[in-house]
Amino acid sequence: MMQPSSVIDLLDRPLGVLRLSLTARCNLACPYCCPDSVEPQGLLSTLDQLRLIHSACALGVHTLRLTGGEPLLTDRLWPLLEALSVGRATPGHPLSRLKDLAITTNGSLLDDAKAQQLRALGVDRITISLDAVDAESIARMAGLRRGAEAGLELFKRVLAGIDAARAAGYEPDEGALKLNAVIQRGRNDDQLIPLARLARQQRMELRLIEYMDVGNRNGWCLDQVMPATEMIQLLHSHWPLQPIGRQPGGTSSQWLYQDGEGSIATIASITEPFCSDCNRLRITADGQAFTCLFASEGIDLRRWLRMDVSDSELAEVMTQLWTGRSDRFSEDRGLMQVGNHHAEMAYLGG
Ligand code: SAM
Repeated sequence: MMQPSSVIDLLDRPLGVLRLSLTARCNLACPYCCPDSVEPQGLLSTLDQLRLIHSACALGVHTLRLTGGEPLLTDRLWPLLEALSVGRATPGHPLSRLKDLAITTNGSLLDDAKAQQLRALGVDRITISLDAVDAESIARMAGLRRGAEAGLELFKRVLAGIDAARAAGYEPDEGALKLNAVIQRGRNDDQLIPLARLARQQRMELRLIEYMDVGNRNGWCLDQVMPATEMIQLLHSHWPLQPIGRQPGGTSSQWLYQDGEGSIATIASITEPFCSDCNRLRITADGQAFTCLFASEGIDLRRWLRMDVSDSELAEVMTQLWTGRSDRFSEDRGLMQVGNHHAEMAYLGG
């Protein structure tokens, strides 16, 4: 079957990926992310979420990533997945155009039952976030007050989550199970090599994320950004690497370990922005659409859902939203005014 063509924005970028945040709440309190402990007013219902996903698929979205806050913290995940799974299996249904369904989680709530349920309901890929292997460092990065003891507990839970995902059929070698780590200079840059060692042992691709100036609460400053090139130099001195590059529309640049032990990736949003082929639309748990992670304000889609618009009217609203898009905030960073208001990462979902 021919894929529907995608809507194109003012910079010729097709819509391809939807990141839907299911909750703004998180069970961790990472200081670089600063999640909320309460939900925003007016969360989307499962029906609202489905209507938005349908419209997005009709406009060319082929990949859906579920995120948060912590998506495994909300029971609303499961009815959504059930409906997605039925729609994807129905020929001709807008959801049958969804080729890839992924979830980003801190892994601490992932047990065998949940991993199997994710698998059974058609989640194709799981990305697990972990920023350190040393217990003290884990606790600091996750904002845990009880220090090393709590850090060790979290580490064990995340490792158990990885085991559960693998047992449910998420194969790292097939790219179905990956590890995310934010690297902050002076906070956890000493964890880069230990994290890479862990990922190599687990045969998981580690994706090293530059610390981003998303949100206003984390006190971001450029001094705390470790550029991806520096991360790669350090890794290369331990395990020689061979560059593969970045897929068009992708966020990560990949390197192969020359010893054949898999790959590693960087997400260099700050030092090597990739706005030119950005294909991502983000929708928050309360229905605000953001075409850029670094934007200050979203567009309120919930308002349209509450007005009971038809599916074609909703698709038209989303078409307008994408076709009017010209943002490339990360490339324009140098031109942006210091002190600009940014939406919070835990609200946007990464
Ligand atoms: N709770 C889930 C998790 O931990 O993966 C999903 C939400 S979290 C906001 C998604 C990703 O964004 C995580 O990998 C997290 O480390 C990353 N992240 C959060 N704040 C960030 C920041 N300021 N810079 C770079 N990455 C960030």
